[in-house]
Amino acid sequence: MKDEKEERDLSIAWWKEIEVYREQMMECLTELCSIESVLDESTAGPAAPFGKGIAQALEVMLQLGEKEGFITKNLDGYAGHVEYGQGEEIVGVLAHLDVVPAGDGWTSPPFEPEIREGKFYARGAQDDKGPAMAAFFALKLVKDLGLPLHRRVRLILGTDEESRWRDMDHYFQHEPMPELAFTPDGDFPIIHAEKGLVDLTLSGPVDKVSQLEEGQWKLARLEAGQRANMVPDLAAARLEGEEDVFGLKEAFQDYLITHQIRGYAEEADDHLKLIVEGKAHHGSEPDQGVNAACQLARFLGQLHLDEAGARYVSLINDCLDGGWFGEKLEIAQEDDRVGRLTVNPGVFRYEPGEGQYLELNIRYPIAADMETIRRKVEEKLDSYGLSITDVDHKPGHYVEPDHPLIQTLRKVYEEQTGESGEPIAIGGATYARALRPGVVFGPLFPGHLERAHQKDEFIDVEQLMQAAALYAQAIYELANRGKND
Ligand SMILES: [Zn+2]
Repeated sequence: MKDEKEERDLSIAWWKEIEVYREQMMECLTELCSIESVLDESTAGPAAPFGKGIAQALEVMLQLGEKEGFITKNLDGYAGHVEYGQGEEIVGVLAHLDVVPAGDGWTSPPFEPEIREGKFYARGAQDDKGPAMAAFFALKLVKDLGLPLHRRVRLILGTDEESRWRDMDHYFQHEPMPELAFTPDGDFPIIHAEKGLVDLTLSGPVDKVSQLEEGQWKLARLEAGQRANMVPDLAAARLEGEEDVFGLKEAFQDYLITHQIRGYAEEADDHLKLIVEGKAHHGSEPDQGVNAACQLARFLGQLHLDEAGARYVSLINDCLDGGWFGEKLEIAQEDDRVGRLTVNPGVFRYEPGEGQYLELNIRYPIAADMETIRRKVEEKLDSYGLSITDVDHKPGHYVEPDHPLIQTLRKVYEEQTGESGEPIAIGGATYARALRPGVVFGPLFPGHLERAHQKDEFIDVEQLMQAAALYAQAIYELANRGKND
């Protein structure tokens, strides 16, 4: 009996079956992506905690579910689910319907979806409405094929992923955690390990500089970076003093040429503004970018600066520059699951009379202790007049590679694509962290461009169809795993 059943299961050509829905799927996705579901608390109300757009997107998906004969539930506008199947246990597929603001420079309007050369363009196409719709039609396919499910499958629809995850707090206060779950909100094949993540904000007072010694420059301002999780690509400093401004400008220009750094200087009678360009990069790989603040601090470190200014510059040079793996802060460590700890100094602000400020984005191995890291950083930076004023922490996330969840998804991926489904570790934080256990499963295939959060966001239609076929088989197999005998 068992052999016969297995043979029948394998005979389903998922990618062929899903084709039937292509047109309908594009229509539904067009409707969903036409809604500007950006967080807007000014239009918040009952059952719409994150504003009208987000509430409408959730309602559209739930109505679609109802129309298809699924069980649906709206949890006060925070999140919802579409459910199909029987059984005590739950298989979860978690997608989100909120999107980041569109920004400028789009070829076609971001909330008027358009297909050009096989690509579906709209804000949310890839992150995460396209994948949400693919998962929906995957569930519909399983239902239309009349396949038995021994677990209930829930497509959970979140609405605050891009901001504060209040959707998940609310949802899991009222609904059980699925026994097995994945989120189509990242990359294929499978992301199973994510580093711990902590943003440390440090600040401290800086007195006004009353008097300068001979030959001394006052560091009147230094600023670089907008976000802790990005390598700053621009840094600026203002130096004031009675000394030879033109001579200093020349020295800076020599420094730029010798070290092949891009930048320039603007001078006036009593001050000089120095600008240095670096290379932006995601904060999870600080060694892959060029930190403009650190480049600038190396030059400033050669000058005779006022005491407070010199201290801030030496903080950058002695504790941060080049210490991308925590060497200089003495927090370097690694494990064999997610690799090395990384430190990205992403935001710098310094101005006498106003204060000094620094934001660090630290990603650490699964087994590391965040409290120890925090204490060490505080100890180290105390002598520079900085103390920790804010901590934003997300613990690491890890699912064992031999977990049934991963085994199943890996088998599905390898069967359908013929490629390796070996799970991967990343330094970033994904929606999978809301799940226990939970992993990322698509929608982006290896080697393809990440378009999330960028202008002209798109999803390749063929790939979205392929993802839907993978989700259908994954849903079916996860719902029946260990229950077929
Ligand atoms: Zn997302």
